[in-house]
Amino acid sequence: MMKNPSRIASNVVASTTLAIDSLFKQMKADGINVVGFGAGEPDFNTPDNIKAAGIKAIEDNLTTYTPASGTVELKEAIVKRVKEDFDLDYKTSQVVVASGAKHNVFVAISVLCDHGDEVILPAPYWVSYIEMIKMAGGVPVVLKTDEDTDFKITAQQLEAAITDKTKCMILNNPSNPTGMVYSKEELQAIADVCVKHGIYVIADEIYSCLLYDNIEFTSFASLGDEVKELTILINGASKAYAMTGWRIGYALANEKLAKMMGNYLSHSTGAPATFAQKGAAEAFAGPQDSREIMRQAFEERRNYIVERMNSIEGVSCIMPQGAFYVMMNLKQLIGKELHGVMINDADDFADLFLKKGMVATVPCTGFGAPEYCRWSYATSMENIKEGLNRLEKFLAE
Ligand code: PMP
Ligand code: GLU
Repeated sequence: MMKNPSRIASNVVASTTLAIDSLFKQMKADGINVVGFGAGEPDFNTPDNIKAAGIKAIEDNLTTYTPASGTVELKEAIVKRVKEDFDLDYKTSQVVVASGAKHNVFVAISVLCDHGDEVILPAPYWVSYIEMIKMAGGVPVVLKTDEDTDFKITAQQLEAAITDKTKCMILNNPSNPTGMVYSKEELQAIADVCVKHGIYVIADEIYSCLLYDNIEFTSFASLGDEVKELTILINGASKAYAMTGWRIGYALANEKLAKMMGNYLSHSTGAPATFAQKGAAEAFAGPQDSREIMRQAFEERRNYIVERMNSIEGVSCIMPQGAFYVMMNLKQLIGKELHGVMINDADDFADLFLKKGMVATVPCTGFGAPEYCRWSYATSMENIKEGLNRLEKFLAE
């Protein structure tokens, strides 16, 4: 008789975003005319200077292991980038490079949490956080938000959720999936609560370069020395430099935590691919103009998708200020029949919209928001127009 796999692993659910993306890619490969707004990844090519650095690294035979938490060259490039972007001072000994920011978040949670420790996170949340907390043996404590509060938590809400078991909170700013951005004042109030109770903060700022309407970004760690000590800052190359497949993310933390995270990496992934680290060093230390060109394109797409979505009967959305996602509110459709199918939640809607409307969106059930579907507008204007034409037709029929 075979024994059961671990209880922890049996409770882990696959990533909805990656599942939708694979299904969409398979449908396309099968010749089906489907339009995709699933996984959030820039549709731009990695800029040429970065590609050249990766190619040169292979040609120069940089094909051996590097230190587990990244090369000194890359860590120096990251230190330079966060100084320029956020006026933050870190030493290279505080930098932990991993194979994607996703892995950095997972290692950060693992290093902070013992079994049974509580991790606070606002909903809607990025789908992977909940599963990562469970994988690390922690207990997710979800703070609900809605459109009325721009999907943001308050310091009071946070304080009320803190117990003796609270170890940390995860704050994703700008947020995936809501696109909302916290102001400096809002962050300061949250930071004060964290310092008062000694709560660590995993500040996932992977979308920090993607802000619109001339809004200024505040990095959580910039709110004071005590806050900085408690913060594990997460960022990376994927979103800002169109480098999702290179798999380079980083964490910045106090030296003790950085060392512990490095230890975890040394026993799990080893180190990120050497040529990818070379490319990322060029991304962070080299010219930054392509980043801004991509940001402007996203802003133009956001303006179009939001205006158009709000003109379509049955759905609505609020204006996101960052990242490249928009939350489509389905509340008017829930409990009604569409094309002969009862819509009970976003899963029902997204499934039908894909099969009948030929559009892939992400149902936010797994994001703690079962009345919303997420559209990623990191796709061409042409696709966005076509997707909305299809939505209009799908809801009108
Ligand atoms: N955090 C958030 C909120 C994300 O949306 C993503 C996107 N995958 C990541 C972290 C991880 O990015 P990556 O692993 O590609 O660096
Ligand atoms: N973070 C992106 C998303 O939410 C990419 C997919 C993933 O890593 O889950 O769509």
